[in-house]
Amino acid sequence: MNTDYQQARLTRDPRFDGTFFIAVKTTNIFCRPICPANAPLEKNVEYFQLAQQAMLAGYRPCLRCRPDSAPHSCAWQGVNTTVHRGMRLLRQNRELSIQAIATKLGITDRYFRQLFQQHLGLSPKQYQLFDKVLFAKQLLHECHLPIEHIAHASGFASARRLQHNFKKVTGLTPKQIKHGKNKQDELISLRLAFRPPFNW
Ligand SMILES: [Zn+2]
Repeated sequence: MNTDYQQARLTRDPRFDGTFFIAVKTTNIFCRPICPANAPLEKNVEYFQLAQQAMLAGYRPCLRCRPDSAPHSCAWQGVNTTVHRGMRLLRQNRELSIQAIATKLGITDRYFRQLFQQHLGLSPKQYQLFDKVLFAKQLLHECHLPIEHIAHASGFASARRLQHNFKKVTGLTPKQIKHGKNKQDELISLRLAFRPPFNW
């Protein structure tokens, strides 16, 4: 498996985008396989199938390839379909409680936690929080909405909750992402999520 991942990252193979993430131990950053940054040495690399798993391990999303804009992979064969549906429902209903999502799935929240832990190594709650932070990050990069709106759209109860969790997970404040964007907006008015073969 790791040899496939290694091959994919060294060739920046776009077919693997969204199917796994590369975390770099020396920088504490994680990337998509298509990241245009210099390829790290294999001994410094750790692989994850989900961005959320890399985040749980303490890695921060790369600001260049932006793991928040990676496509959601359908390439996950062999993973329990309830886990798949659970991940999808969590993404589609960011404001809902874990209990409510479990009810939608027709299982108890205890079993929901067990399934996630067993297949993904993280709890539905952790998956949801990291997903919300990633989604908020994407909105901060791509929209001009006020922070309150972004908090609401990404399922946080308030701007304060967003700011607190965002800082904890990414090491940056939402303002830093917004200001970085504004600076770039003065130079270029069009920003697209990175998709090979296009570079920026
Ligand atoms: Zn990157």
